[in-house]
Amino acid sequence: MLSGIVDAGVPVPHDEGRIVKNMVKGEHIAKYGKSLDAGSEVYSSKFSRYLAEKVSPEKLPEHVTKVKAEIDGRSRLIQKPRLRLKLSLRLRLRLRLKLRLKLRLSWVRKCRLRRKLARRVVIKHDIKAKQRETSSLETWVPRTRLGRLIQEGKISSIDEVFLSGLKISEHQIVDALLPDLQEEVINVNLVQKQTDAGEKSRFKAIVAVGNRDGYIGLGGGKASQVRNAIEKAAAAARLNIVPVKRGCGSWECGCGKPHSVPFEVEGKCGGVRVVIVPGPRGLGLVASEVAKVILGLAGVKDLWMRSFGATRTVPSFAFAVFDALKKSYNLITQADWVR
Ligand SMILES: [Zn+2]
Repeated sequence: MLSGIVDAGVPVPHDEGRIVKNMVKGEHIAKYGKSLDAGSEVYSSKFSRYLAEKVSPEKLPEHVTKVKAEIDGRSRLIQKPRLRLKLSLRLRLRLRLKLRLKLRLSWVRKCRLRRKLARRVVIKHDIKAKQRETSSLETWVPRTRLGRLIQEGKISSIDEVFLSGLKISEHQIVDALLPDLQEEVINVNLVQKQTDAGEKSRFKAIVAVGNRDGYIGLGGGKASQVRNAIEKAAAAARLNIVPVKRGCGSWECGCGKPHSVPFEVEGKCGGVRVVIVPGPRGLGLVASEVAKVILGLAGVKDLWMRSFGATRTVPSFAFAVFDALKKSYNLITQADWVR
């Protein structure tokens, strides 16, 4: 009994000495079968079971190994759907999140769960983004005039694009002109719409892109899969890319280097209003974590930020910061005069 269980691969704690190895394969039966006369009455009565199954008792060990190999082969086949199991784990996590949201658990726990989900996704996303970047630019076939101009080499910098006034309608344009673009997932959220069959859940991602040197883009994307939502958001962020006017607007500094914003700027989105105040060199980013990510990608280093309204709403807050940076080019200063 024990030998049978152990042989089947079930991890049972046992004393090795208690199992006689050749008994497992039935070698003792084979030996006994050989000692008897194959035609005798004793033989047929003793081995009636084997004979009914058309197994000769003398060849029992070979038969056992054959059957065992078959079982092993089949169990390998059974193990294959492991991949599906992994996917369902992700699904389970998502379901858990959905459930907890429904149960209206505490805000902190909700946040923790969301962050956990986002972190997992970000790691996977980073790998995918690198793969995508190398493949998509090479196989890119431009569909717009601007795209063709860039592929022909007539436009070689993003400044020319903004001076030309042409609209960026393909995200590959930005990838081609700003090769050192960095991506950051700002927020991933579960959103639902009501259908006749209940709620339809989708994920909404907010992604910021920037080269840490004066260009920033922010975009959102929705999809039923988190990864697809992030990809959509990343593409949208590229289309939204804008230059940020940098300067030294602080009276405490006056160095004239582009380390901050040249003047106070205000941005709004939804119920959020933010004010970016230029600061002296060495100050750093005096802002919340979300704002720091966006401001860092934009390439400004020293500023204060004041925010008003529903700043807990991360998407609105992020877009308000983006709006403020965008508005840095709304005002024409003396430095912009062309003489
Ligand atoms: Zn300065």
